[in-house]
Amino acid sequence: MFDSFYLVIGRIIVYFFLITVVTTVFIAIFVIYSFRTGTFPFPNVVLSGILVLEGSIKALFRLFKVDDSIVDNVVIRLRNKVSLKRFESLPFEKKAIFLPQCLRSVDCPAKLSPEGIQCINCGRCNIGGAKKKLESIGYMVFVVPGSSFIKRMMLKYKPEAILGVGCISEVKDGQDLCHRFGVPAVGIQLDTDGCISTALDWDVFYNTAKAYHTAAKADKIASESSH
Ligand code: SF4
Repeated sequence: MFDSFYLVIGRIIVYFFLITVVTTVFIAIFVIYSFRTGTFPFPNVVLSGILVLEGSIKALFRLFKVDDSIVDNVVIRLRNKVSLKRFESLPFEKKAIFLPQCLRSVDCPAKLSPEGIQCINCGRCNIGGAKKKLESIGYMVFVVPGSSFIKRMMLKYKPEAILGVGCISEVKDGQDLCHRFGVPAVGIQLDTDGCISTALDWDVFYNTAKAYHTAAKADKIASESSH
């Protein structure tokens, strides 16, 4: 009686282990395929699979000496794919943008407040102009030193969608946080990582924010009304 009970339990464990290994290998191949081709079929299913087996997929990558940050990269792109439609469908006023403080000039004179860096648009970096443009069309814009600020601003202002910029780990953590809040989040990775004077592809940023034409229109209206 007990022998057959333990046999059944043993079989279940072996089957579970085999299914986990096969699924891990399958998803790992899928991750590499998506990373190389930029195509992401069944994004919701694959994203769920990666998130459940993330540890073992990364371990498999390390075992074969493949850079495991590929997994994070694909997770970010999958989340973007899943979130972009909702993000774009909402009016600017309901959306928040989070920029990292490392994008600032090293000589930034702005002070830190409970809502992040209070940019005074001194002209030493691109943040000042971007913030002004984006706020003029309705976005809430924050320049933040870390994810604790993002959480606080989400609780306070309750944006319905988010566009965040950061290094790969910040973007992934930020998207995880937004996911826990049920808020769709689109992430853009910095071109260069680091703690100071990082770089961003501002064309990609403005295109994702859908702010190019709208901000240009707002500029035109403002300059016409000032004459
Ligand atoms: S534009 Fe704003 S963020 Fe950039 S250096 Fe000046 S005050 Fe700092």
